[in-house]
Amino acid sequence: MRIASLDGRAVLLGQNPNRNPGRDLALDIAEASADIFGPTPGEVFAHWTEFTAWAADIDVDADQRSRPYDPAELGPPSPSPSQVFAIGLNYLDHATETDHAVPEHPLVFTKFPSSLVGPAAVVRLSGDRVDWEAELVVVIGTGGRDIPEAGAWDAVAGLTVGQDLSDRTVQQWGAPAAQFALGKSFAGYSPTGPAVVTVDEVRRSADPDALRITCEVTDPDGGTRTLQDGSTRDLIFGVPTLIARLSAVMELRPGDLVFTGTPAGVGVGRTPPVFLKDGQRLVSTIQAVGRIAQELRT
Ligand code: ZN
Repeated sequence: MRIASLDGRAVLLGQNPNRNPGRDLALDIAEASADIFGPTPGEVFAHWTEFTAWAADIDVDADQRSRPYDPAELGPPSPSPSQVFAIGLNYLDHATETDHAVPEHPLVFTKFPSSLVGPAAVVRLSGDRVDWEAELVVVIGTGGRDIPEAGAWDAVAGLTVGQDLSDRTVQQWGAPAAQFALGKSFAGYSPTGPAVVTVDEVRRSADPDALRITCEVTDPDGGTRTLQDGSTRDLIFGVPTLIARLSAVMELRPGDLVFTGTPAGVGVGRTPPVFLKDGQRLVSTIQAVGRIAQELRT
């Protein structure tokens, strides 16, 4: 199932667009459940076990209460997480391209929640050294403390696509004490979406521990280049390990996000470095999860 946010309200998205050509359908969760769940996505994640039991019987494409929606209107699927974790240098080839040693422990920082926007947001570039980082984002369901690796996927609501947009100047890239949280928390620097795809839904067509992840940019003249093309199979610390390590310190709460790191191909690792420009369109795609697209402006 796919849970998304429309006007701040939690909705279930249709599973099979072919049954409704040209019509994407959404079902308002509070309306359909007679206000048992929702109305916000946060309130759905907070009652995750009960919600999934209820939603198992819902067929959005067949339900008379479903309405067409414009995908451009979707907001971030978990708009108000209490915590946003992000992991640095979590792919071997990305650590190598940026001249860093392979970390022995997950390198954890935050992206402040006010930087979250939806999957089709227009993003203002904060300077001339803004970089892309396509990332698999984990959305916490039941969460908890001291979650064992073997049970980690059970604590997760699902997966979504994210961009960890990064101002390398503000991040003080290369300085002894980098400002990860600041350089990655400008308005719009954490686009996510289009939906939280539940783990069982991902497993229907792919292995959630080995998902292809790509990032491409289209210039104003229409030329498109692939910037990143990797697989979450190559994560140094995979999702179960991250859940276990994070929950050994912090309580993971419903709706929390974990940006799991980016594969090779970022701009700062190139010779010469390449950064995002006004008028470009940045598209990030993850197999079985979805795609997000940002229009970039100065
Ligand atoms: Zn990142």
